[in-house]
Amino acid sequence: METKETQVAVIGAGPGGYAAAFLAADLGKRVILIERDERPGGVCLNRGCIPSKALLHAVETIHETEASARRGVSFGEPRIELDTLRAWKDGIVAKLAQGIGFLAKQRGVEILRGRAAFQDSKSLSVEAETGPVTVRFEQAVVATGSRAVIPPSLALNHPRIMTSRQALEVTDIPGSLLIIGGGYIGMELGFVYSGLGSRVTVVEALGSILSGADPDLIAPVRMMARKRFHEIRTGTTVQSLSVADDQIRVVSQGPTGAPKEELYDRVLVSVGRKPNSESLGLENTGVKLDADGFIEVDAGQRTADPNIYAIGDVVGGAMLAHKAHKEARTAVENLCEENEPNAKAAIPAVVFTDPEIAWCGLTETEARERNIEVQVSKFPWAASGRAITLDRPDGLTKLIVDPETERLLGVGMVGKGAGELIAEAALALEMDATALDLASTVHPHPTLSETLMEAAEAYYGTAAHFLAKKAPK
Ligand code: FAD
Repeated sequence: METKETQVAVIGAGPGGYAAAFLAADLGKRVILIERDERPGGVCLNRGCIPSKALLHAVETIHETEASARRGVSFGEPRIELDTLRAWKDGIVAKLAQGIGFLAKQRGVEILRGRAAFQDSKSLSVEAETGPVTVRFEQAVVATGSRAVIPPSLALNHPRIMTSRQALEVTDIPGSLLIIGGGYIGMELGFVYSGLGSRVTVVEALGSILSGADPDLIAPVRMMARKRFHEIRTGTTVQSLSVADDQIRVVSQGPTGAPKEELYDRVLVSVGRKPNSESLGLENTGVKLDADGFIEVDAGQRTADPNIYAIGDVVGGAMLAHKAHKEARTAVENLCEENEPNAKAAIPAVVFTDPEIAWCGLTETEARERNIEVQVSKFPWAASGRAITLDRPDGLTKLIVDPETERLLGVGMVGKGAGELIAEAALALEMDATALDLASTVHPHPTLSETLMEAAEAYYGTAAHFLAKKAPK
């Protein structure tokens, strides 16, 4: 059996793993990055963030051109060439994956293709294409990510029942699509498929779609989804799925009444994700898992085994690519003894629906649940010149402020491009900015970024374009 020696072994080449491997190499370590898939990039690049955003952009142009007619500029009916759309999306993924491979080569990071499992706290066995390989390491970073959960009652193993992975392949445009789960993945894909022409129904077991976001931020998305989707049913669970000729028979139970039986052309199950922590040989190491299978880590991303760090979806928390990236930096800085464990950063969350929802830091709901006294200052986008020129006044920016110190505790937004705007809020929170800092920062006009400044001015009752009462002290 071939044996390779390295200082750092990283398992998984997703946004956590490749960021960790590259930083370790930049800091002078010899690194092997092990990936079982054909291409690097993980879920995010190959079957998550990037393909979903490409498809969302494509359908956004359909709605933009439709809305344009009332502004006096008309285009014809959209004609969707699915093969071309799929090739464009796949081309983006291939190009970015190639870029990761190229950047690895430039840094001298060896990408070893194969499935890795720990033999002990110092070595891994890898089923590589060329045969089994033992990789001996000084330190390892586990970045094996997560995968979609399909509850046993819904697991028919039938091509008409999809997870996000198959849905992003857009093999066809189903006439009717049931989405089980109204979280961000289900809702984003709902906007993709409804934009392409499917009759989309979303069922969500909880009382609201997109739970986790504040209700006032969800409201404009719900309103748009009601226009674009056939139906959204909350408080509803799917009891069974069965195959009925060319369709799927679905039995669901709403909050009242008898169970409902319906037929759909396709069903997308998006009810959650679980960590890829089994079959990794972790039992041969000191690494500990929690009850849900996530790897337990401290603030420096150290596991219970002194040689092994873990980052990204496999450690749980916000299962987002930029969280994985941040944890990669923390782990590598610690294993290179560059830094002491840093305090948890403010991790922004973005839902790429239409309009987008984004938030960072404390939400108003969390403040209420945790009995934290806050002042909430809001600026409606109907008062923003830029939002009106974009024909999208359906937005809101709000600040969650500590009334004692006037420090920003959280920022929430809904509106076109909110996902881009939230980065300013993340910086403000990292810098411990106050509402006054944000209000005194000159923002360019006319831009949507002014809504952050005006929400801060509104806190003091001085927003130029919105008459708001000064927050009581
Ligand atoms: P992953 O990206 O899951 O990568 C793990 C890698 O490890 C995989 O390539 C896997 O093949 C490999 N691996 C696993 N086990 C082994 C083994 N034993 N040996 C070798 N290799 C192994 N996040 C955002 O921030 N923004 C978004 O817009 C967004 N959109 C999403 C849309 C969808 C549809 C989905 C499903 C997810 C989305 N996410 C988004 C979440 C994001 O994709 C994940 O949070 C992110 O990919 C996690 O990165 P990671 O490095 O921890 O793991």
